[in-house]
Amino acid sequence: MEKGLVSVDQWTVEGQAYFLTHLHADHTRGLSAAWRRGPLFCSPISARLFPAKFPGFDLSLLRVLEVGATRALDLVSPTTGSRVQILVTPIDAHHCPGAVMYLFHGAFGLVLYTGDFRWESSSKRAELAKKMLLDALQGNTVDVLYMDNTYCHPSLSFPPRHVAAQQVIDIITMHPDHEIIIGIDNLGKEDLLVHISKALCTKVWVWPERLQTMHLLGYDNIFTTNTSVTRVRAVPRYSLTFETLDALNTMHPTIGILPSGLPWALDLSKKKGFLCTLSEKNHSYEGSVNQLHKNQMHLTRKLKQNAYSVPYSEHSCFSEIEEFVKLVQPSILSRIVPSTFCYINPRYYFSRYCIDIHPSDEPSSSKSDKAEDVDTNEKNGTLQRCKSFIKVKARELRKAKYARGKLGIRSRTYALLKTKRGAKIMDTDEMVLNSSL
Ligand SMILES: [Zn+2]
Repeated sequence: MEKGLVSVDQWTVEGQAYFLTHLHADHTRGLSAAWRRGPLFCSPISARLFPAKFPGFDLSLLRVLEVGATRALDLVSPTTGSRVQILVTPIDAHHCPGAVMYLFHGAFGLVLYTGDFRWESSSKRAELAKKMLLDALQGNTVDVLYMDNTYCHPSLSFPPRHVAAQQVIDIITMHPDHEIIIGIDNLGKEDLLVHISKALCTKVWVWPERLQTMHLLGYDNIFTTNTSVTRVRAVPRYSLTFETLDALNTMHPTIGILPSGLPWALDLSKKKGFLCTLSEKNHSYEGSVNQLHKNQMHLTRKLKQNAYSVPYSEHSCFSEIEEFVKLVQPSILSRIVPSTFCYINPRYYFSRYCIDIHPSDEPSSSKSDKAEDVDTNEKNGTLQRCKSFIKVKARELRKAKYARGKLGIRSRTYALLKTKRGAKIMDTDEMVLNSSL
């Protein structure tokens, strides 16, 4: 896609249409109430949360896109000045509230930007999202995939969120006389807290700004800012430390729970900053748990006497990422997180599913993984080249088809394009009709 047209989660670059995947701070860096660069597209839930996140923001710049609905944007090429038309479809990312992926379709082909996402194989919602994406792809594969690579390492395997949520319940149940402190961010993990509330028939304390967010999300009568009505408190993640837990325990028995895909993999108890092995994790397993969850419970770690980490992740684990890449079969695969905990380029592991093979991409932290990967690529070399040829031809056909399909729209919408900055949303039904011309 030509530069200067569309920008996703990038707020300091030139563009004509800006897209927000979700409201986590690492995706809004550079965005402020003083925003004037152009229209900002987001999901309905992100739009609902937006004024509280950015008080004073000019809301006339917000453009709300319904999840699953395809819309057309008329933009202008920064280099030629000619009209450029782009279709965009937001897809449920099943990450935090309001999080979406964006599928862009135009003369450049199909570009999918995932933002952060978690598609568990056992999740009905993820299944719906998958169907939504496949419907939008209409049998085509993705030309360029920008993908959430947060946990893109084979050692990172954790259970679905409903299993991890039960692990949290088990821990709380095992401590009937303790105060419970759970570390969360400003957005996300709401389903976990609601599950706790329902399973234990208790309200959950949150700080005042978080209560406002909960109300905006439609959660009523579950959360409270009154500490006297519940022993379960969700606190800002940064405030949950061993030191604060020790201090709280001088007043009342208290345990801390950190639900996250990352800390469970860190050997915090030994103060090393590295991934620990599965055997190390098994060694640290403690507590009697429900047999149903025993297989995954080893991933819950008792970091010290009063601190637990539970692998409740809103990012996909490695096997889910792999399934996702297989599903969309991108020609080109690119990461969206430049520096993750593991610092792994997803192309390193998944090039076998892609056209552009980059066997020399950044090395893995595991040499054996690298050897296995290269070996597999060699074995599949001939097949890859055949697949690549077919994909290239298919992409050329798609582009030609797209160019033909757009001819019917051009004359009807060109008169409405008044400025070089900004984007117009066309009616979807009209778009579909004209595309079939
Ligand atoms: Zn996020």
